[in-house]
Amino acid sequence: MRILILSDSHANLEGLEACLAVAPSSDRTVNLGDVVGYGASPNEVTERSRKLGQIFVRGNHDKACTGVTSVDGFNPAAAMAAMWTMKSLTPENLDFLKQLPQGPVTMPEVPDVQLVHGSPLDEDEYLIVQRDAIKPLERAQARITFFGHTHIQGGFAVQNEQWATLRPVYASKDQQENCVLQLQDGAKYLINPGSTGQPRDGDPRAAFCVYDTDAHAVTFYRVPYNIKGAQDRILAAKLPERLAFRLAEGR
Ligand code: ZN
Repeated sequence: MRILILSDSHANLEGLEACLAVAPSSDRTVNLGDVVGYGASPNEVTERSRKLGQIFVRGNHDKACTGVTSVDGFNPAAAMAAMWTMKSLTPENLDFLKQLPQGPVTMPEVPDVQLVHGSPLDEDEYLIVQRDAIKPLERAQARITFFGHTHIQGGFAVQNEQWATLRPVYASKDQQENCVLQLQDGAKYLINPGSTGQPRDGDPRAAFCVYDTDAHAVTFYRVPYNIKGAQDRILAAKLPERLAFRLAEGR
């Protein structure tokens, strides 16, 4: 089975469409949350995401943009975008985002996998450096935990108490590329597909991954997209300019 894994689309339609245009055919689509927030196409991205499949985990922005939580912990630009998103969402899309489940979410047909937004131990926690991954990986029953939230493609692995940080290696920052991670028997993984809508690992290309359960492999993808188009929409919506500029930096 091939599973397409998307995360942190953040209402960036151009980024999501570019990823879908190059993604190989898959049997399931999984969405790790933050469908909206920051970007200027919340309805388009929510509708496109809904059409792709039913397996979702909620993100902190999905919660804040639908009133499940307040924007108190958000920086001013994120809070402003969340309020704008709440006003802009159609009632139907708002209801859809509001009812997204808290992770971990599991798939009966793929029992060795769990899906979370932040961490399996706390849906809002950031797993950025290897130290952050120790407790969640030690406690995970699942062999692979797919997570998002940091917008950093890669992840962490442990095997026989040997820890590793996984970062795909690419030749460029402006071509479409992919990088295959062959999974090892006996290892446990935390894997982040990266963000389709607001990359923060210094690479502005949109990011996603595909998990092939038969090949025991995860393929990471980076895809150039129409950044200018996404930026223009953010500026036209009078969202904070920083939210447009950061897309070009991948920060
Ligand atoms: Zn996010």
